[in-house]
Amino acid sequence: MSGPGYARPGSVADTVATLQSHPGARMIAGGTDLMVQMRLGHRSPELLVGTGALDELHRLEAGADDTHIGSAVTLREFLQVRELVARHPALAQAAHLLGGRQIQAVATFGGNICNASPAAESTTPLLVYDAQAEIAGPQGRREIPLAELFEGPGRTTLGPGELLVALRLPGVGGDQRSAYRRMELRRSVDIAIVSASAWFQVVDGRVAEARVAIGAVNAVATRVPDAEEALTGVDVSDRSAVATAIAEAASSCRQASRPIDDTRASARYRAAMVEVISQRTMAEAIDQENS
Ligand SMILES: Cc1cc2nc3c(=O)[nH]c(=O)nc-3n(C[C@H](O)[C@H](O)[C@H](O)COP(=O)(O)OP(=O)(O)OC[C@H]3O[C@@H](n4cnc5c(N)ncnc54)[C@H](O)[C@@H]3O)c2cc1C
Repeated sequence: MSGPGYARPGSVADTVATLQSHPGARMIAGGTDLMVQMRLGHRSPELLVGTGALDELHRLEAGADDTHIGSAVTLREFLQVRELVARHPALAQAAHLLGGRQIQAVATFGGNICNASPAAESTTPLLVYDAQAEIAGPQGRREIPLAELFEGPGRTTLGPGELLVALRLPGVGGDQRSAYRRMELRRSVDIAIVSASAWFQVVDGRVAEARVAIGAVNAVATRVPDAEEALTGVDVSDRSAVATAIAEAASSCRQASRPIDDTRASARYRAAMVEVISQRTMAEAIDQENS
C-alpha cells in the first residue's frame, strides 16, 4: 500500500485551498505526534500538508503589548529567546520539559496544541497567558480564545480547510508571575499524569488577577474559575493569607477534575495529585517576582 502524498504550499491561502480540495489531508509540522499515530494506524491521511514554506507560521516576536508565536515555531526556537523565557516562565518550563532536546528541536507549538491531548505540555501555560488562537480558513481569518479550540481528546474545533496560524499572548507587562509543573512517572521523556499552570498579576502588593489551569485530568485542559476567585485580592506579603488562599484554590482544582483511570495512573491518584501539583505551582508562581 502506498503512503500519503505530500504538499508544501508557499502561502496560507494556498494551504487553505489545498486542505479544502483534499478532505483527507492533514497538516504536518514536526511530525512527532502525527508520524507516530500513522505508524500505529491511528491516523491515515491521504495527503500531508507541510508548514516548511509558510514564513508566517514561523514568526516569533516579543512585541511591546503582546507575544506572537507562529504555529510552526519549535519549542527550541522559543527557548532560545531570553526575553520570551523571562516573560513567560510557565511556558518556558513546559517547553523545557516536553520530550527531550531532539524532540524540542522539531516539535512545534501548533502541533502540540492541534494534537489536542489533554496532557499537552504547552496548553495550560497558554491558557493562563490568555492565548488567542489565530485561525485561517475558507472564510478568511478569525481569532478565538485558545480554550475554544479544544473539543475533546484528539479533537479540535478547526473546520474543513482551516489551520492554526499563530498564538497571541496579550497583556504583557507589569508585575506578572507564573509557573508550570507536572507530575510524570519517569523523570524525562514522559507525558504528564497531572499538570498545572498559574499566573498572577500583582498590583500594589495584591493579586489583581489570577489564572489557574489544570491538564491531564479532564477531557480537555481547563481554567479553574473557583481557584482564581480564591486567590484574587490576596496580599502577597501576608504568608498566612497566601497559604490559606492557595489551599482553597488547590481544593477547587481537585473538585474541577474528572480524571480517568489508565495504564499510567488511577483516577483517584490523579485527583489527589492535582491538588498537590496545583498547590505547588501556585506557591512557586506567587513567589516568582517577574516585573
Ligand atoms: C519521544 C516523544 C516524547 C514526547 N514528549 C512529550 C511531552 O513530554 N509532552 C507533550 O506535550 N508532548 C510530547 N510529545 C508529543 C509531541 O512531540 C508534541 O505534541 C509536539 O509539540 C507536536 O508538535 P509537532 O510539530 O511534531 O506536531 P505534528 O506531529 O506535526 O502534528 C500534530 C497534530 O497537529 C496538527 N497540526 C500541526 N500543525 C498544525 C496547524 N498549523 N494547523 C492545524 N493543525 C496542525 C497535525 O495535523 C497533527 O494532527 C512527545 C513525542 C515524542 C515522539
